[in-house]
Amino acid sequence: MTTLRWGGVTDIGRVRTANQDSFFAEETLFAVADGMGGHAAGEVASSVAIGVFEGATVTGTKDLVALIQAANRAVLDRADQNNELAGMGTTLCSIALVHDETDPGEADHMAIANVGDSRVYLLHDGALTQITTDHSLVEDLVREGRLTAGEARQHPKRNILTRVLGNEPNLDVDSWDVLCRRGDRFLLCSDGLFNEVDDDRIASVLRRLEPPEEAARELLRLANEGGGRDNITVVVVDVVDDGGVSESASAALADSPSTLSSGSAPHDTTSSPNDHVSSAPARTGTRTHRRARSHLPTWRAGLFVLVVLGLLGAAFFSIRWFADNSYYVGVDDGEVTIFRGRPGGVLWIDPKIEEGTGLNLADVPVARRDAIRTGRQQSSLESARAYIANIEDLIESQKPPTTAPTTTTTSPSPTIPVNPLVTGPPVT
Ligand code: CA
Repeated sequence: MTTLRWGGVTDIGRVRTANQDSFFAEETLFAVADGMGGHAAGEVASSVAIGVFEGATVTGTKDLVALIQAANRAVLDRADQNNELAGMGTTLCSIALVHDETDPGEADHMAIANVGDSRVYLLHDGALTQITTDHSLVEDLVREGRLTAGEARQHPKRNILTRVLGNEPNLDVDSWDVLCRRGDRFLLCSDGLFNEVDDDRIASVLRRLEPPEEAARELLRLANEGGGRDNITVVVVDVVDDGGVSESASAALADSPSTLSSGSAPHDTTSSPNDHVSSAPARTGTRTHRRARSHLPTWRAGLFVLVVLGLLGAAFFSIRWFADNSYYVGVDDGEVTIFRGRPGGVLWIDPKIEEGTGLNLADVPVARRDAIRTGRQQSSLESARAYIANIEDLIESQKPPTTAPTTTTTSPSPTIPVNPLVTGPPVT
């Protein structure tokens, strides 16, 4: 059973006068929202969006996408109710642990979705991958090759987003479905982190600090150290086994300031299969899915080998059976002979002499000789014997009547004494 352990932190940073970020972390569902808008609107937008996550149940990627779309409607509705909130918006990135009940042999998955430029990263085997793709102007420029990632972090228009919650009723949500394994570490964050701390340093912290709340706080510290020009939110979610649950949870509870939350919860296995609803740009999507499938070849290859071996075995035994249960009447050294096997053999299996018949091919009627020379196939040993018996009858019936005249045919003739000396007196 997959268990998660997490630590989350949000901070105003060193420049802003309000924290417009919000985050949600509970059991198997996590989200980060980065609000925008004048006055207190940004705070309202992110908190309204995050509020939709309270008590929500996500059993698949589709659910997660629907949840973000519901959050979008909630933000729009709230803005409609208050003119001062008009134009407010928020980013939202989220992950949810889901279990595919249709495939019990399959591991749990993390449903991932985002809108805007808050990010989800995955640390797997020490390597950090950005899973989500920012919906921002600078991301478009990076994708077009007009900016490097480093230049994007410093770009004056880096805050301009191309897609947010609170803008229009029909919202496109990018989503992913990522296999998660013990030891994987997910990071959700607002741009206040990655605009101040580059990916290499983020990866270094995530590799170095094991407790998720400790890693989250260290990343926050580095973001403030790097300038803290924006609000900073960091949520670190670890995939752990049951053994690590209680100790990490108690450690986290014993040391949690007001901005920090952490905990752990077992995954509810009553969820349903997840769907991959929409695919984000190919770069990260492709990498994600390649990774997600990386363990599958192990059992698929094994199954393939087993199937091939099974087929080869079945073929071998079929050929063996075919060869062992076939008979034909042929010739061995001039004698008509019953063979087991097929004339000329089957693959590597040569025919064997089953029994001789004592019948010379030369005695067989000419019309039958060619069939016997090439091997007259029979369905069974009995039918081979019957075939021989038939030929013997034929031979017998065609024999010339060599003895019959001396025994059966009589013609009137005078009795000639064999020994005149004995049988009668000499003729005079
Ligand atoms: Ca921000």
